[in-house]
Amino acid sequence: MPSKILDGKALAQLAEEDIKLSVSKLKENGITPTLATILVGVDPASATYVKMKQNACARLGMESIAVELSKDTTTQELLKVIEKLNNDSKIHGILLQHPVPSQIDERKCFDSINVEKDVDGVTCIGFGQMTMGEDAYGSCTPAGIMRILDHYKIEISGKNAVVIGRSPILGKPMAMMLLNKNATVTICHSKTKNLKDHIKKADILVGAVGVPRLIQKDWIKDSAVVIDAGYHPVEKCGDIDLEGIDSIASAHTPVPGGVGPMTINTLIFNTLLAAQKLI
Ligand code: NAP
Repeated sequence: MPSKILDGKALAQLAEEDIKLSVSKLKENGITPTLATILVGVDPASATYVKMKQNACARLGMESIAVELSKDTTTQELLKVIEKLNNDSKIHGILLQHPVPSQIDERKCFDSINVEKDVDGVTCIGFGQMTMGEDAYGSCTPAGIMRILDHYKIEISGKNAVVIGRSPILGKPMAMMLLNKNATVTICHSKTKNLKDHIKKADILVGAVGVPRLIQKDWIKDSAVVIDAGYHPVEKCGDIDLEGIDSIASAHTPVPGGVGPMTINTLIFNTLLAAQKLI
């Protein structure tokens, strides 16, 4: 049987219909869900991602406030901007686009975001709460992946899940979310020996490496569920070699149109949830 396509784009479109309805109900109560986006510097890819998030807000009747800062911004200056947004009752969610220029202490700035407005799930407190199964917005890319798995009724409990990558916004929270759903989780990274052998054991495989087609299709276990979080616009591929995946996987996310649209949708959904908490 050909591998089932886990269509993140279609799922995001479906979810948008519900979000739109909820936004108009909130507006009737005098609340317009509002996301503040902070872009530091001129990285074109980051600017595109921020624009896509702002466009999603506009499409769904939500507000977005764009804060654009110069590439020379200091940590102190960025902290002040975040503090102002934290104290602004009209702002429900704050997105600090990653990565920021290297002179900035990104972790310190992420952690200065009020956890109630941490709709992108980047703070240590949010990560800790999510890991402990407490109420928190999980990091958007892994949380979006969990929504895909849930929608397509992919069984997680008792499965061997292998996550390739351990970044704070993707690999680590992904592993914790799968663990919380009772998967047996292996996290691989750049120092992992015999990567292939770990991948071969994966019932659920998540590529979150940032290296085009690093993961070869002949390393993948028969009937595995394959999630590719990577996207490389130049090579037009993800982190996994998906050519011919049909004959191997039981289900997979396409690139593009898999994980990416659900990342944005999850950010918007979380902003809606943050606004809904006010009524
Ligand atoms: P990152 O911060 O660069 O982390 C990459 C991770 O991969 C690190 O943990 C690194 O290990 C590991 N790694 C690198 N080379 C490896 C190798 N040869 N073997 C095994 N592990 C290796 O990247 P990221 O932000 O997590 O992003 C990962 C990918 O996801 C990228 O393609 C990015 O574009 C994509 N992404 C997509 C979305 C979306 O919305 N779709 C959102 C975020 C990211 P060490 O820790 O040992 O260095």
